[in-house]
Amino acid sequence: MLTGSTTTDTQEPRGTRARLAAIHAAPQPARRGMWEISYGHPAELTDACRPTVLSRVVDEPTWHQLHRGACLGCDYEGPERRRNNEATEDAHDHAWPTWRALPVVSPPAAAADYRPVLRERWQAEVTRAYPAGWFTSGGPLVIYRPEDGRHRPGGAPGGGYEIVVRQAEPSQQSEQPTLF
Ligand SMILES: [Zn+2]
Repeated sequence: MLTGSTTTDTQEPRGTRARLAAIHAAPQPARRGMWEISYGHPAELTDACRPTVLSRVVDEPTWHQLHRGACLGCDYEGPERRRNNEATEDAHDHAWPTWRALPVVSPPAAAADYRPVLRERWQAEVTRAYPAGWFTSGGPLVIYRPEDGRHRPGGAPGGGYEIVVRQAEPSQQSEQPTLF
């Protein structure tokens, strides 16, 4: 076996729970290169399927990171991805399979940063546009944000992910107009 092929090693644990147990059991120097919860992504195990992202550092031949969508409630793992966003979307396809059909909303007005009433109004509109109970169960918000394409854990009103759409797609737009 070639060195560096550990990601395909069948002896590796699978699933968030097993991978967290493995990295916590490993001595500190051995942890580099092991899969762990990606920085800033949720890490608390849940009963229901909820998305998260695992990442690992690869040093050879050049430093980079690999990511994969994962689940806090079961052993699902998505394929290895070079982009964190792709892994986040894989995890959502697993945990929130209808998320791609959600309405795309625009961010609150800039003034909402210092006027809580504006933010509350925006949240109320968004909540009305989404399925009942969606945010209280931790569901994601899909938002149009052309200037910053990173999906953000915790960005949805109920603590779910904020999934960013950077370009309004014409086909998608006719079916799902950007709200507000
Ligand atoms: Zn799951």
